[in-house]
Amino acid sequence: MRPRRTDIDIEPLSDGIWRLNEYDFVNCFLITGTDSACLIDAGAGVADIAAVVKTITDLPLKVLITHAHADHVGGAVWFKEAYIHAKDRRSGWDCMRAYQRAYFLYSHPYKRKTHHVPYSVCLQRDHRPALLDLREGDVFDLGGRTIETFLTPGHTPGSVIFRDSLTGDLFTGDNVNPMVTLHFPRGETVETWLAGARRTLALAGEGRIYVGHGDQPLPKSWLEENIAFAESLVKKGNRSGGKTRIAKGEEKLPCLKYRQNRVANGKQTKEHGK
Ligand SMILES: [Zn+2]
Ligand SMILES: [Zn+2]
Repeated sequence: MRPRRTDIDIEPLSDGIWRLNEYDFVNCFLITGTDSACLIDAGAGVADIAAVVKTITDLPLKVLITHAHADHVGGAVWFKEAYIHAKDRRSGWDCMRAYQRAYFLYSHPYKRKTHHVPYSVCLQRDHRPALLDLREGDVFDLGGRTIETFLTPGHTPGSVIFRDSLTGDLFTGDNVNPMVTLHFPRGETVETWLAGARRTLALAGEGRIYVGHGDQPLPKSWLEENIAFAESLVKKGNRSGGKTRIAKGEEKLPCLKYRQNRVANGKQTKEHGK
């Protein structure tokens, strides 16, 4: 049995980048420049990530959120403000509620295997910050490096990825991941995800791809595999109703989870059986 953890693992990566991993569950990334720093994703907000960041840097900090799921935006509760795309803003606001963050911790399959965090711990911080607009093309100058924003809808309508100008590294949240999930209620069509995934691959160049869950960095071949699978789905088109289908087996990575009625065959299809 794994020891219970109630903290955030700090792992220095390279060139002023740290991975902050909350409860073996979600990856957040701290990037420092000469003048300021940014935190990409904030975890579920159970651990005090703001205090953890302060042990690494005192630089002024901006919090940038890849998408509105409680395991990424939840930790924004520890800050005064955070940036999120307008298409995910409302959902992001809801996801910061303590019960939403607790839901993730109790319901996520591999979370359940590893830890049991009391609900009271999730409630210890019940404050919500201002949510500021994050747009395609927004550039954050940290001094000596910039962080650029790209809108890549798929996992959610407002999913964004970020690129660090110094290393060329990408930070993709859940939109590009070992397990791509498009079957959640606010997931987009496979075609929409595919466009963003191809863009991500093109942007990656020689940089690394740091993702929201799992080991780092993501092998580019995994992204290529998921792109090839999504292309095969689009070629076949929408055959039937709203079942969730899983590519290459649930336990085997990389995989892509989708709903058959979200293979749009070139156009958005009607939703059935969410
Ligand atoms: Zn997500
Ligand atoms: Zn996630």
